[in-house]
Amino acid sequence: MRLGIFGGTFDPVHFGHLALAEECLAVAGLDEVWLVPAASPPHKGGKKLSRFDQRKEMLELAIAGNEKFKVEPMEADRPGPSFTIDTLEEIQKRKPNDELFLIIGGDSALEFSTWKDPAKIASLATIIVRIRPGVIMPTEQEFISQLGKELGVQPKVIFVAGPPYLDVSSSLLKERVSNNKSIRYLLPRAVEVYIQQKKLYLS
Ligand code: ATP
Repeated sequence: MRLGIFGGTFDPVHFGHLALAEECLAVAGLDEVWLVPAASPPHKGGKKLSRFDQRKEMLELAIAGNEKFKVEPMEADRPGPSFTIDTLEEIQKRKPNDELFLIIGGDSALEFSTWKDPAKIASLATIIVRIRPGVIMPTEQEFISQLGKELGVQPKVIFVAGPPYLDVSSSLLKERVSNNKSIRYLLPRAVEVYIQQKKLYLS
């Protein structure tokens, strides 16, 4: 199986994430995409984070009815920062015959070489980079050659460019909720209702 792994904070999940996963699945011919919420994201610099179980529940509501998407909560079982390399190694052990694809947004791709063991990650998975609105990117060739130099190995990379670009972010949604502005049509309705019921992001 061609298995896509899409990690994120998902606080909350929104249509930008879902459209990204859908587009990468189609362009790279993936069989499934696993959405992996980070228990303790190393790159979010101590920002206030909603509870893991709530971020996971929002993801489950968001993907309901899509048989190709799955929520994988494995990072909750590991203490300390949630490093992608540990997640990939665990998935590889569980699914030794699968071909792994790591899906990341353009902003994360630009920081990839600062992650833990980036060369090891690149040896385990093809990296799918989804261009994100507002993020200025090098060309695919420039990105591959620059990353290759930084890692000392030639990474396998697939750039997924072109519309639909959805300029939505979790930060925008949180800011809108805390300012009593509508977030309708920016994320699945069930997630919006969940946020209201649990009174998330109010301050
Ligand atoms: P924040 O606003 O807190 O930065 P976020 O919306 O970027 O949150 P994350 O959960 O941090 O959400 O994102 C997980 C991954 O999804 C990252 O690799 C990010 O680049 C990508 N991503 C998020 N939103 C979009 C979008 N609208 N278009 C393309 N990629 C996106």
